[in-house]
Amino acid sequence: MNRITLVPGDGIGPEVSSSVVKVLKAVDAEIIWDEINGGETAFNKTGKYIPDELLDSIATNRVAFKGPITTPVGKGFKSINVTLRQKYNTYANVRPVKSIPGVKSPFHNVDLVIIRENTEDLYAGLEHMITEGVAESIKVITEKASTRIAEFAFKYAVAKKRKKVTAVHKANIMKISDGLFLDCVRKVSLKYPEISYEEVIVDNMCMQLVMYPERYDVLVLPNLYGDIISDLAAGLVGGLGLVPGANIGDDIAIFEAVHGSAPDIAGKNLANPTACILSAAMMLDYLGNSNAANKIRQGVFKVIETGKNTTSDLGGSSSTSEMTEAICKAI
Ligand code: NAD
Repeated sequence: MNRITLVPGDGIGPEVSSSVVKVLKAVDAEIIWDEINGGETAFNKTGKYIPDELLDSIATNRVAFKGPITTPVGKGFKSINVTLRQKYNTYANVRPVKSIPGVKSPFHNVDLVIIRENTEDLYAGLEHMITEGVAESIKVITEKASTRIAEFAFKYAVAKKRKKVTAVHKANIMKISDGLFLDCVRKVSLKYPEISYEEVIVDNMCMQLVMYPERYDVLVLPNLYGDIISDLAAGLVGGLGLVPGANIGDDIAIFEAVHGSAPDIAGKNLANPTACILSAAMMLDYLGNSNAANKIRQGVFKVIETGKNTTSDLGGSSSTSEMTEAICKAI
């Protein structure tokens, strides 16, 4: 039995987290869930956005599954997602983006993995008003974090039998900060001659991805570019409802989909549970239970390919719970 912290999240979070619990039960994954929320829901109950109980649970269990959490725009509390990633030093955000047969999408040959640095860059939280009408945000890039994420990306490429790592940057303009990131990745690349290495400027990367996504394999990026390119890449394979993710550190990992709390469809039983269910499959791989993880993936892909029990983002008319039930049956 593995004891896992479960953060249901906000918006569609509780709906898609409940799908995860059902699917993991259907596959007999032997999980004991410690359910503790964070964010606004937790604040209303406990007066804290991240209750101590949640912090203790993650520190003890070392593995968590998290639904999306809402972050207020332009005001309010610091992102709970960013806080957890920084606190537990889950420095690598791993997001596999792969075409799924049966999904109507612009491309059917995408198979790339985004490896996003997860702890620094403009997410360091260093911003202030200098004077009225003038704001400053500080972008922090360090040799330590850049080398660490580069090592992670190349080791991942070797372990998963990938062929190429592309470093994405804007070092033509941010010569010092992105220049440092690039120097670090380049140095690490020399240790892995079996993996091809290339560098692409982030604006060009956007155009390349929407025209020739099949040319890309593993992408390694600083935090902000990684966040933006993730949503772009999700669009190539059919949308945010499909793309899973993991935040990996040296000994703690938090699994969550790429998507957010989707307030526009929250509480309507409309959300596609696939991204969260595939994130849970990544969690089972991490826990050494790839047998259950593969069964889940096969079940999900079967339901999507058959096309009978899919949510509206995939062109179907099923609810979150109906799609979840079909996946449980297909496992
Ligand atoms: P979003 O990802 O929540 O939604 C963007 C669009 O994609 C919406 O139209 C939404 O309906 C759709 N979508 C997302 N997930 C879907 C799913 N599973 N099935 C079907 N459609 C889906 O992005 P947003 O609207 O920019 O952000 C909403 C909130 O989520 C913000 O507060 C943001 O800070 C937060 N957020 C949290 C995380 C996280 O917890 N890791 C990640 C991204 C955004």
